[in-house]
Amino acid sequence: MPPPGQTRLPDWDGLKLRVRSLVGSHRVLVFSKSYCPYCLRVRQRLGPDAEQYFALLIFLTNDGPSIQEVLVEMTNQRTVPNVFVNGTHVGGCDATLQAYQNGSLQKLLGSGTDVKPYDYDLIVIGGGSGGLACSKEAATLGKKVMVLDYVVPTPLGTSWGLGGTCVNVGCIPKKLMHQAALLGQALKDSRKFGWQYDEQVKHNWETMVEAIQNYIGSLNWGYRVSLREKTVTYLNAYAEFIEPHKVKATNRKGQETYHTAERFVLATGERPRYLGIPGDKEYCITSDDLFSLPYCPGKTLVVGASYVALECAGFLAGIGLDVSVMVRSILLRGFDQEMAERAGAHMETHGVKFIRKFVPIQIERLEEGMPGRLKVVARSTEGSDIFEGEYNTVLIAIGRDACTRNIGLDKIGVRINEKNGKIPVSDEEQTNVPYVYAIGDILDGKLELTPVAIQAGRLLARRLYAGSSIKCDYVNVPTTVFTPLEYGCCGLPEERAVKEYGEHNLEVYHTLFWPLEWTVPNRDNNTCYAKIICNKLANNRVIGFHVLGPNAGEITQGFAAAIKCGLTKELLNETIGIHPTSAEVFTTMNVTKSSGQEITQAGC
Ligand code: FAD
Ligand code: NAP
Repeated sequence: MPPPGQTRLPDWDGLKLRVRSLVGSHRVLVFSKSYCPYCLRVRQRLGPDAEQYFALLIFLTNDGPSIQEVLVEMTNQRTVPNVFVNGTHVGGCDATLQAYQNGSLQKLLGSGTDVKPYDYDLIVIGGGSGGLACSKEAATLGKKVMVLDYVVPTPLGTSWGLGGTCVNVGCIPKKLMHQAALLGQALKDSRKFGWQYDEQVKHNWETMVEAIQNYIGSLNWGYRVSLREKTVTYLNAYAEFIEPHKVKATNRKGQETYHTAERFVLATGERPRYLGIPGDKEYCITSDDLFSLPYCPGKTLVVGASYVALECAGFLAGIGLDVSVMVRSILLRGFDQEMAERAGAHMETHGVKFIRKFVPIQIERLEEGMPGRLKVVARSTEGSDIFEGEYNTVLIAIGRDACTRNIGLDKIGVRINEKNGKIPVSDEEQTNVPYVYAIGDILDGKLELTPVAIQAGRLLARRLYAGSSIKCDYVNVPTTVFTPLEYGCCGLPEERAVKEYGEHNLEVYHTLFWPLEWTVPNRDNNTCYAKIICNKLANNRVIGFHVLGPNAGEITQGFAAAIKCGLTKELLNETIGIHPTSAEVFTTMNVTKSSGQEITQAGC
C-alpha cells in the first residue's frame, strides 16, 4: 500500500524493488534511525557480526517515511529497528535480542557452521572479453566461480562458440579480413618491386572464411581449456535472474538449472540493432552473419557510418567487391571529424561509393540465392527524395543494443538507463544493487572496446578478492579504426578539445606524410595525415593524438603510453625518430594549423 494520504508515490514500485533488493543483497540489514536508542542496542549487539557479514545500516532520512511504508507492507512492522538476516525478517529490537539469546539469530547468520549459503562466490554472466578475464582472475585468486555464456542465434540462424563478440564476430575476424584486403593491395604494389606473376589474381571468399573460422575455432577451444585449467565452471546456457542471488540457466535443449552466488558480474555485451523496416530481419545481414557467411556477398550496401560499417565496407571493397555505404548524417560520430572525412575520402578514391543523407525505408527480395538480389528503397534525411538501388547483400551496421533487457534485472532491482538499455555503474563497476557488478560494452557512458572490458574485469576481480584498490582508467584509451587507411587516436578529437579548452589555448601541429613503402608503387601521396593537439596552458601537453596511415594501431599504442605519462610537444621534439618509419613524423612536426602553412610532402 502506498503511504496514507497518497494514492501512489511517484516511484512506489521502484522503491519497493529497491528495498527488496537491499534485503536480498545483504547478510544483515538493519533499517534504523540515528537517534533511536533501540536501534543502538541492536547495532551494539550485532556489532562484530555486522562487520563480518557486511551489515548495512539504513538510516531512514530523506525518503525514510516512504521506505517505512514499504517496510510496513513487507513486514507489518512500522517501528525501527527493522532487522533482516539473510533475507529473513527478524523483527524489531526485542525480537532481535531474543533471537540472539536463543541462538536462532546465529543460525540465520550461518555462524559456527562451514556451510556456505551460496553455490558460488561469483557467477559471471557472459563469456566474452570482460567475462572471461574477470572469471579467470577471480578463480586464480581462489574463488569458486561459474561463467555462463550463450549465443542467441541471429535472425538468419548464425551462431558461434565461447569467447564473445571480439573473437567470433568482432575484432579478430574483422582484422583478418582487413589483412586479406591489405594483401590485395600489397600484391598490386609487388609488381613495382619486381614480382612477376602471370595468372590473373582473384580472391576466393570461401577459402578466406574457412581459414578464419578454423582459427576462431581454435581460439574457442583454447578458452574452454583455460577455464578448465583455472577451475572455472563453464555452462553453455542462457542466464536470467529469478530472485536475489539466484539465476536460472537454460541450455540449448531447453533444460533449466538454478545457481546461486554471493556476487554477480554482468558481462553480456551487445548485439547488432536492426532498422525496424520491412524486410530488414528477413533479408539483411549484420556483422554477426558476415564473418562466417558461406558465400561471397557480392555487390553490397552497407548501412551506417561508424566503426563497424566503415571497417566492413573497407575490407569488402579491398577484396574487390562493389561496395556502397549509406550514411545517415556524418562519418564516425564522436571521432575527430577531419580525420573521419580523410579516412572516408581515401575509401572513396579506392572505389567505395557513399550515399549521403539517406536512410533505407524498405528492403525487398527480387531473387533468392547465395547471394540473392535485393531492392533497397531509401529516403533522403533532408527532403522527400527517394533512392532505389539493387544489391546482392545489405549489411546493417547502425549500432548495437546492450543485452540487458531479458536477463531478469527487474527481478533484483538492477537499474538500467531506459533510453539505451545500458547499466550505470560506480567508478568501481558496481550497479545500484551492491552484490551485482557490470563490465564491458553494457556500461553506460563507457567505451566499447575489448581491452577496456578485459582491464575492467581483471581489476574488478582483484578489488573484490585481493584487496586491490586499483580502478579501471577509462580516460585516454587509445583506439584504431581499421578502415583501408587505418585511423588511430588517443585523447580528444579536435572539436572536443576546442569546446573544453577554447581554441586560443590550443596549438595543433599537423602534417601529411607519404610512407616510404608507397613511394615506389607511387600511390596515395598526401593522404596519410598526422595531428597532435596540445594544451598551451599545461606546458603544451598532448591532449589529442591522431594518425591516419598504415599500421596506425601499432603506432598509436606506444604514443598512448607516452600520453599516460604526460607527453608534451617538447618531449616529442626531444625524442629521436626511427628512420625510415611513418611514426617518426610525430618527432618532427613543426607546422601549426593556425599558421596555415603548407603541409603537403613531396617525398619521404
Ligand atoms: P561480449 O564480448 O559481447 O561478450 C558477451 C557474451 O555474453 C556473449 O558471448 C553473449 O552471447 C553472452 N551473453 C549475453 N547474454 C547472455 C545471457 N543472458 N546468458 C549467457 N550469456 C549471455 N573492439 C576492439 O577493441 N577492437 C576492435 O578492433 C573491435 N572490432 C570490433 C568489430 C566488430 C564488428 C564489433 C561488433 C565489435 C568490435 N569491437 C572491437 C568491440 C569488442 O568486440 C567489444 O567491445 C567486446 O567484445 C566487449 O566485450 P564484453 O565482454 O563486454 O561482451
Ligand atoms: P555506433 O558507433 O553506435 O554507430 C552507429 C552508426 O549507425 C552511426 O553512423 C549512426 O549514424 C548510424 N545509424 C544509427 N541508426 C541508424 C538508422 N536508423 N539508419 C541509418 N543509420 C543509422 O555503432 P557501431 O559501428 O556498431 O559500433 C559499436 C561499438 O563497437 C563502437 O562504439 C566501438 O566502440 C565498437 N567497435 C570498435 C572497433 C574498433 O576498435 N576498431 C570496431 C568496431 C566496433 P548517426 O551518426 O547519424 O547517428
